[in-house]
Amino acid sequence: MNSRMKEQVYYIHDTASKKKGYKRKLLFCSSLVLAACSILAPIKLLAQSTEWSYDGRTGPDHWVDLGFEDCGGFNQSPVDINICEEEGSHELPEIEFEYEHTPLLILNNGHTIEVEYEEGSKIIIEEEEFELLQFHFHGPSEHTLKGANFPIEMHLVHRSEEGELAVIGVFIKEGRRQNKNFKNVWDFLPPVAGQEREVNMVINVDEMLPEERGYFAYKGSLTTPPCSEGVEWMVLKEPVSLSRSQIRKFQIALRLSCCEQNNRPTQPLNGREIEATGEEGHEGNEGHEDTDGNEGEEGHEGTEE
Ligand SMILES: [Zn+2]
Repeated sequence: MNSRMKEQVYYIHDTASKKKGYKRKLLFCSSLVLAACSILAPIKLLAQSTEWSYDGRTGPDHWVDLGFEDCGGFNQSPVDINICEEEGSHELPEIEFEYEHTPLLILNNGHTIEVEYEEGSKIIIEEEEFELLQFHFHGPSEHTLKGANFPIEMHLVHRSEEGELAVIGVFIKEGRRQNKNFKNVWDFLPPVAGQEREVNMVINVDEMLPEERGYFAYKGSLTTPPCSEGVEWMVLKEPVSLSRSQIRKFQIALRLSCCEQNNRPTQPLNGREIEATGEEGHEGNEGHEDTDGNEGEEGHEGTEE
């Protein structure tokens, strides 16, 4: 589908108030992802956007004072990932990805930009299934690798039938070329808080992930209020790369609607262990960055937005 087609077929809901947006989201839930949303409702994955923020008096340092007590827990996320390759455990199971296509519904909730996922996509870890609910982005990254941030981090949020949450984190770094696998989502980033775009196309987030799926694992929490713990975190070792202007586009959308940055600072491990899958080292593997969906000619992607 070329971009001209897209202009013809997409239609957009601009919800004037967050309240209305929330209502619309519930309606969407009832028709498409009933099971997932009804499970989610009681634990409130997303708090109301007026209650907390990423800086100032409602910033991360004050989330506990604002009534989100779990944010002061001992098993919080994100964390700094600082382990040697040799520490990789060969016993961590492989993640089986069974992601299907989904209609593109993308919303800006005032904290992040999020893509809702239709029921029927899942990961399987040691025979336990976790349904993919949504994915969203943080800039800069929330997890850090040996103390260093990446420009963006993608979170894919899953939930098992028993209610256990599993989140896959994907680091996004800057590469030389555009990543065509991000184009469909990136073309429709809603730049206004409360705005939702329902686009007449389907996407499959599997195409947005790196080819190598080795990962770091630890037990943590949601990185936004209510900061509920008991979340299985799997942060992929291999980042994906976006061009400089693609990264810039996300940053601008974030700034217009939310904040300069929407990453919670890293939290103490408090004795938790980070494990890693034990395949051959990926680090120092420079030059690999343009193999996953990256195309286009260097410096040939137009001017900055
Ligand atoms: Zn997140």
